[in-house]
Amino acid sequence: MENYDLVVVGAGSSGISAALTAAEAGLKVALLEKGDKFGGAGMFGAQGLFGANTKLQKEAGVNYSVKDAYEEILNYTHHRSDARIVKAIIKESAETLAWMSKNGLATELVTNTQEVHQNHPRTYHQYIDKFNGFKKMINKFENLSGSLFLKTSAKKLLQDNGRLSEIEITHDGTDECMNTKNVILADGGFIGDKDLVKKNVNIDLNNLYSMGERKATGDGLRMLGEIGGVNNYKPLLENHAASIVTNDKNPWENASLATLSTLPLLWVDNSGKRFTNEDVVYDFALWGNVTYTAGGYYYIIIDQDFVDYISKNELDWTGSFERTFTLLQHLPMTHKVGPMKTLKQELDTALTSKAVFKADSLTDLAKLLNIDENNFVETTNQYNKLISKHVDDDFYKDQKFMKFPICNGPFYALKAISTTLGTVGGGLVNEKFQALTAGRKVIPGVYVVGNNAAGMFDSAYPTIEGLSNGFAWNSGRIAAKTIAKLNK
Ligand SMILES: Cc1cc2nc3c(=O)[nH]c(=O)nc-3n(C[C@H](O)[C@H](O)[C@H](O)COP(=O)(O)OP(=O)(O)OC[C@H]3O[C@@H](n4cnc5c(N)ncnc54)[C@H](O)[C@@H]3O)c2cc1C
Repeated sequence: MENYDLVVVGAGSSGISAALTAAEAGLKVALLEKGDKFGGAGMFGAQGLFGANTKLQKEAGVNYSVKDAYEEILNYTHHRSDARIVKAIIKESAETLAWMSKNGLATELVTNTQEVHQNHPRTYHQYIDKFNGFKKMINKFENLSGSLFLKTSAKKLLQDNGRLSEIEITHDGTDECMNTKNVILADGGFIGDKDLVKKNVNIDLNNLYSMGERKATGDGLRMLGEIGGVNNYKPLLENHAASIVTNDKNPWENASLATLSTLPLLWVDNSGKRFTNEDVVYDFALWGNVTYTAGGYYYIIIDQDFVDYISKNELDWTGSFERTFTLLQHLPMTHKVGPMKTLKQELDTALTSKAVFKADSLTDLAKLLNIDENNFVETTNQYNKLISKHVDDDFYKDQKFMKFPICNGPFYALKAISTTLGTVGGGLVNEKFQALTAGRKVIPGVYVVGNNAAGMFDSAYPTIEGLSNGFAWNSGRIAAKTIAKLNK
């Protein structure tokens, strides 16, 4: 049985960060990855991460101090996050970005990706050449004698006299053990396990679209619970936007439908009533929260006049995801959508998936949606009145978006469902990312980071850009530094 100073479970953002940091400090490290590729959601999903007071920010004249970020996060979470953890993560963030760059994964400071954040100090450090950058970090880890084991899952932690002693693994189908006194659980939360997700949400899972890491099935949190750690501390869904999901395509392949979902058109919930200012669509986290709070889905209502208009014309509204894509390709923003020449065809195709509903009258549409007909008709009448005076007295939508009444059939309802990037939280830790018991005693040798760890957020995905991935990279690094220090 091989001996390691440290076994890191999961080779995503937090695991790679931890493994390379520990290897640099001279520790003998095994990095386990369940899949046949390293990277996790931190590489296949995320495009960047948060930083405060970084070199790139200073060069660009962006003033965003550790204190600014600290106070903003604590206010955002109503002080229900752990102030020591928040401080530790933010304080580490500049150094982590410099270290990533030195090791091959450079970032560039871009404008914040979401429209409503344009006046917020820039925090989003976008990966440059991310796939090669991740590879360089792994190469560096292996050059320092770190061992990466792909197709290898951690299964069980074993203790000897209250101290971690071994970890049971499955390596390419074969059960084995590794000797180690330290483990970092960096396996990305539990979005890949339907039963666990069901226990932690109060919407129907048929109304949840996950973009998260499917291999993150809660293994680390389960192992943590088995040795007396707290594994259910404030777990939350990273609600992020809403998606129109058809049977045969992922949401982004339905080009026009996807774009319509990113515009502040008329939305109604399952009571047939309007429920929000639809320009919340310009903040992905809040948009996600609104969708979840509405019961996991809502309907975007359009009429034939709108379909005819947008099929032929360009509209001077910004699609809320436009900036994300233009930044990646270094293209200028257009702040326009349309003409959507394939819209009719996409709407008709989506009818069979029950992602789109169509009827000649509003009452027939309400029947199809199984929502209250009176509420629905009253809502559209009221919305049309507001449009005619160009003022949204009900939910205060920007005047610019008070443009399309619902008048002429056929009428369409596009179903948008809750969308998540994964789960965060569950594992109770201190600011060094040491696992804690319910009595807040340190469990020696056991560390919990990234999506597995609680403490940074409260009930929702943060609106400050890049914070989720920033939490992962920085927590991994802090845990590894702690182990290196204690091992001296
Ligand atoms: C589409 C998408 C876009 C995103 N965009 C952003 C963004 O722009 N900004 C931002 O801040 N955040 C973003 N995020 C969130 C960000 O990706 C996460 O915060 C981050 O990846 C979490 O890091 P992690 O190390 O905890 O998990 P991951 O990076 O997912 O890594 C977990 C790894 O553990 C492996 N694993 C699971 N179980 C085991 C096991 N038993 N044994 C061994 N290995 C195991 C998994 O296969 C995976 O490789 C995005 C997420 C998604 C899905």
